[in-house]
Amino acid sequence: MASTKEIVRFAPSPTGYLHVGGARTALFNWLWAKHTGGEFHLRIEDTDQARLVKDAEEQIKESLEWLGLKWDGPIVHQSKRVKDDVYLEYAKQLIKSGWAYVADESEEELKEVKNRQKEAIKAKQPLPPYPSREKNIPFEKFKSGKGMVIRFMWPDEPKAMDIEYFNLSKDPWTTHIDPKTSPSSFEDFVLIKSDGFPTYNFSHVIDDHELGVTRIIRGDEFTSSLNKYVALHEAFGWKHPNYNHVPPILGKGDTKLSKRDGAKDLLEYQKEGYLPEAIANFISLIGWRPKGEQELFFSLDELAQAFSLEGIQKSPGKFDPEKLDWMNGEHLKQKGIGEVIALAEAGSFWKSTDEAYDTKVLGLALERVKTLADLKAVRGGFFYKKPNVTKEKLVGGENPETIGVWLEKTQRQLEALPEKDWTTDQVKDELTDVLEEEGLVPKQLYPVLREALTAEPQTPAIWEIMGVLGKKETLERLESAASLVA
Ligand code: GLU
Repeated sequence: MASTKEIVRFAPSPTGYLHVGGARTALFNWLWAKHTGGEFHLRIEDTDQARLVKDAEEQIKESLEWLGLKWDGPIVHQSKRVKDDVYLEYAKQLIKSGWAYVADESEEELKEVKNRQKEAIKAKQPLPPYPSREKNIPFEKFKSGKGMVIRFMWPDEPKAMDIEYFNLSKDPWTTHIDPKTSPSSFEDFVLIKSDGFPTYNFSHVIDDHELGVTRIIRGDEFTSSLNKYVALHEAFGWKHPNYNHVPPILGKGDTKLSKRDGAKDLLEYQKEGYLPEAIANFISLIGWRPKGEQELFFSLDELAQAFSLEGIQKSPGKFDPEKLDWMNGEHLKQKGIGEVIALAEAGSFWKSTDEAYDTKVLGLALERVKTLADLKAVRGGFFYKKPNVTKEKLVGGENPETIGVWLEKTQRQLEALPEKDWTTDQVKDELTDVLEEEGLVPKQLYPVLREALTAEPQTPAIWEIMGVLGKKETLERLESAASLVA
């Protein structure tokens, strides 16, 4: 482990809402900060004014807060730093030290050099230089809106770079970026665009340096540009951070994850009654593997303890919505019933009127529930309102009179059970007596009782339902069903 404090960051562009992929990047960085006792910062990369989505920043912050990923220190906004000319100042510094130049090509010059570059790339030859390299235009002449840009100046014969970008692993992944095989990687890339705004390549390097970022964990689409970032750090005389790249997330058909695969914006999961800890647990396992067999981590702290960079996988992670449902159900079951009720009420999935009764209901229902939203159906279901029993379903293929006899026998048997003995176990014993005395098997009697009590095809065990409903309500429902076949 590094001896200095780890400083990581999440740097979303507010060009869209936070989704599963972005949340995973944020989570891995946060987990690593917690695992190492480091810092996690938030930077909003809002320089692409044309693509800004109005409430994206709010949604991103709310999503991170919902997940429990608190950031340290103030949020950095790149747009503010553009206004303060921070990036221009740094560009000026590079021009002074011979690592950048103001590029002011005529349209014709530009066209010609681009064509020659294309040929060179095809022939794997060094790129022909931009004419401006020779023009020595001073920084003070740079004006936005006049077709000028500021470009990085690679040395005439740039070295190939071997960049180890997963350097805590036992098996580091190295990317070899070579001007011989990939001349385009050594193009004099733009630092400041003609509108005066910095490129992502430039601004994020500056900002990471100023924040003291020691490690960057992000998507592997950045691998091929690593040589640019490293070169920029070196041009300034700075140490570059460590890089860890995470593989993409795939959906069902092994194609890039999309909404069709059930992936949603983070706050949608909140609306649908998922628990933030379950979402974090689920997302953490897409592309990361813990050391042992444990898959369920019930808190972020537990996850942070288990987190390791070695566990980040090389191959793409899979998004499996069924696993998410299962996992959310497990997280729910692990909570106390009181807590589940409070969460469900807070999310408007539940309204408590009788806490003791609700506790009994949930003691049964939680077994089958996957999300808090599923509780809405429980709250609106047979535990809280009379079932809509139909004669047809009650009778099935039997003779109505027979059904009447079975119901009446059950009523009489249960009537004799004193209120104070009305427990699930006792009720079950009474029902067993009914079966024996009538010479019936469960398959005959129980569907009738199930219809009478719930009008639902699938429910918890019939004696458990009776245990929760209580004596009075159970007998009333049996009576009401019996009247349908009288
Ligand atoms: N703003 C970039 C993005 O959202 C950040 C990439 C990075 O982490 O450096 O893709």
